Amino acid sequence: MENNMLKVYAVCEKALSDGNLSKEEILVLLKCPEENSDIIFQTADAVRKKEVGDEVHLRGLVEFSNYCKKNCEYCGIRGKNKNIERYRLNKEEILATALRAESLGYRSVVMQSGEDPYYTAEILADIISAIKAQTDLAITMSAGEFTYEEYKTIKEAGTDRYLLRFETSNEELYKKLHPDSDFHQRIECLHILRDLGYQVGSGFMVGLPGETPEIFADNLLLLQKLDVDMAGIGPFLPNSDTNLAGASGGTLVNSLKAVAIARLLLRNAHIPATTAMGSLDPKGREKALQAGANVVMPNVTPEEFREMYQLYPNKICLRDDPAHCRKCITGKIQGISRIVSKEHGHSLKVKKEY
Ligand code: SF4
Repeated sequence: MENNMLKVYAVCEKALSDGNLSKEEILVLLKCPEENSDIIFQTADAVRKKEVGDEVHLRGLVEFSNYCKKNCEYCGIRGKNKNIERYRLNKEEILATALRAESLGYRSVVMQSGEDPYYTAEILADIISAIKAQTDLAITMSAGEFTYEEYKTIKEAGTDRYLLRFETSNEELYKKLHPDSDFHQRIECLHILRDLGYQVGSGFMVGLPGETPEIFADNLLLLQKLDVDMAGIGPFLPNSDTNLAGASGGTLVNSLKAVAIARLLLRNAHIPATTAMGSLDPKGREKALQAGANVVMPNVTPEEFREMYQLYPNKICLRDDPAHCRKCITGKIQGISRIVSKEHGHSLKVKKEY
């Protein structure tokens, strides 16, 4: 056997019982040839089974606004993109969507938008309070950066979790891709969210132009350092309405490796099989679930708005109604001998300071 594969086997063997992999060990896994990568996915699957079991948590995704004041280079709903129609859901529409999600059996929803100044912390808090008053849903908010006081207002309204991806751990690359954001501010927001008692989610994109294996490894190590409760990882998929239209996108194998290594490092964190993976490969989400993931986020946004919320191209399920999506995803999960959870899917981590 080649020396490199011996190293891959050794790292996998260690990772079965110990999540403290060094950067060098992570690089061994990242550099493993595609045709030999199954061992990494199988190891992550074994760790997933041991740490979080066979249940898959469903989070219904509510894309409530595609307005955004920012201009992230990879994003199809960036403020300067004049080629898309913009929409906002009002309080009643969001509440009706949440109620529908609950009636379809969801225990949890993720409310996602661009950074839309229309939704102040007070407006969001009012919407969250209404959902909490009328449902038993756990709520994740994913609406970008706010101040400490604003995050506090949103938390006190009943929000359980907040998802804020850092996308890349490399400060220089971050600056290039996010002309109106600051890397340190992003990380500070994640610390604030933790201080305020949110279950914190973060993550990154795989295959961004400028990403090196070292940056890739650092992305994974940053997730571990932040001790996230949830890790959202998906491939970069070039959008034709952006300056990165001609760039090559992230690959499925690298995205699966990212999920797998995240599982090895983060142990009992929740890790979604992201929709972007399903967009890259028809079996992408099932493959991710068999490489360490334990969450799926089917879209529950009303059908008429879905086409307008495309951060990346060829997004799946744009024309499927929420009831169809719910049934379809249940079939996929059961098809790989996994179980749809009936729980809220709260963090399994013991809270600690970082
Ligand atoms: S990635 Fe988020 S913040 Fe950046 S432009 Fe897109 S929606 Fe706005």
